Amino acid sequence: MSKYFKNLVTGGLGFLGTNLINKLLNSGENVLCIDNCSTGQIENIKESWDNKSFHFIKHDVLDPIDFNVERIWHLACPASPLHYQLDPVNTARTIFIGTENMLRLAKKYDARILIASSSEVYGNPTIHPQHEDYKGNIKINSKRSCYVVGKRFAESLCYDYQRMHNLEIKIARIFNTYGPKMSIKDGRVVSNFITQALKNEPITIYGDGKQTRSFCFVEDLIEALIKTMECDYSNPLNLGNPFEISILDLAKMVKDKTSSDSKIVFNPLPEDDPLKRCPNIKKAKEILKWEPNISLEKGLELTINYFKNKIN
Ligand code: UDP
Repeated sequence: MSKYFKNLVTGGLGFLGTNLINKLLNSGENVLCIDNCSTGQIENIKESWDNKSFHFIKHDVLDPIDFNVERIWHLACPASPLHYQLDPVNTARTIFIGTENMLRLAKKYDARILIASSSEVYGNPTIHPQHEDYKGNIKINSKRSCYVVGKRFAESLCYDYQRMHNLEIKIARIFNTYGPKMSIKDGRVVSNFITQALKNEPITIYGDGKQTRSFCFVEDLIEALIKTMECDYSNPLNLGNPFEISILDLAKMVKDKTSSDSKIVFNPLPEDDPLKRCPNIKKAKEILKWEPNISLEKGLELTINYFKNKIN
C-alpha cells in the first residue's frame, strides 16, 4: 500500500511552497514536499528539515508519483517571467502535464486539489480591477503565452476532471506576492528593487514606471490559500491585495525604506508587460471571509529585513 500523507505540496521549495509548508507544519500537519530544485531552494526549508512531519523527495511533476494523499497543493512551476520564459516549452509542459499528473493522483486517492493559477490568465487587462468573470485580454504568440495560456489550460483541465470524476478542485488565481523566502535571483520587481537598493546599485525600472501592480504580503496570501483549500467553492478565486501602486512609486518606497543611495534608472519595457493589474477580491472576501491586512509599507519592511540577512 502507498504511504499516506495529509498534504502533498508540489514546488514545495519555492517561495510560496516553503511559506505554506512552514504554516502547515506549525499547525501539526504532515507534509510531503516534492520539487525538482530548478528554481526552488533546499536552503528555504532548512528550519523544517529535522521536523519528523516533513518529508522531501526530489521529483519533477512531469513524471507521475504514487502516494496516498488527502490534499494536494499544486504549486510547481517557475512563476517569475524571467524564469518561465527561459524554456517556454518546458514551462507549458510542466503546467499541463504536471497538472494532469496531480489530477490523476487526486482521482486515485479521492484527494482535494488546489492549483496555483495566476492573475496572468487575464493577460494585459482592459478592465480594472479584474474580477473572476473577466475573460481577459491575451495574446497567443507572446513570450508570456506559455504561462498565460498554460495556466488557463490548467484551470480548464481541472474542470474536465471535476465533471468527469467528481473531483474536489480549488483554483487560486494568485496576484503578485512578495515577502521572506523570495529568491534574490528571482528576477521579479520586489526582489530586484530591494537587492539593488541594499547594494546601492541602480534600481532598474522597466519602461516609464507608470505601469501598476498590487502586491500581497506572503503571510496574507498563505492564509487565503489555506482558506481556499478548506472552503466548498470550486470556481476560481482572485487572491491578492487590491492596494495598487505604480512601479515608479514602488521604487521610491523601497529606496526610502532602505535609506539607499541608489539611482533610479529606466530600461526598456519587456514585451507584453501588462500595464495595470489589480485584483477585485469581492468573492474571496465573501466566500473565505478573508482580506489581506499587512500593508505594503509594513510588508516591505519585513521583506527588507529578510534580504538584509541574505545579502550580508
Ligand atoms: N519590473 C521593473 N524592474 C525590475 C523588474 C520588474 O520595472 O527589475 C517591472 C516589470 O516590467 C513589471 C512589474 O515590474 O511591469 C512587475 O514585474 P514582475 O516581473 O515582478 O511580475 P509581473 O507582474 O510582470 O508578472
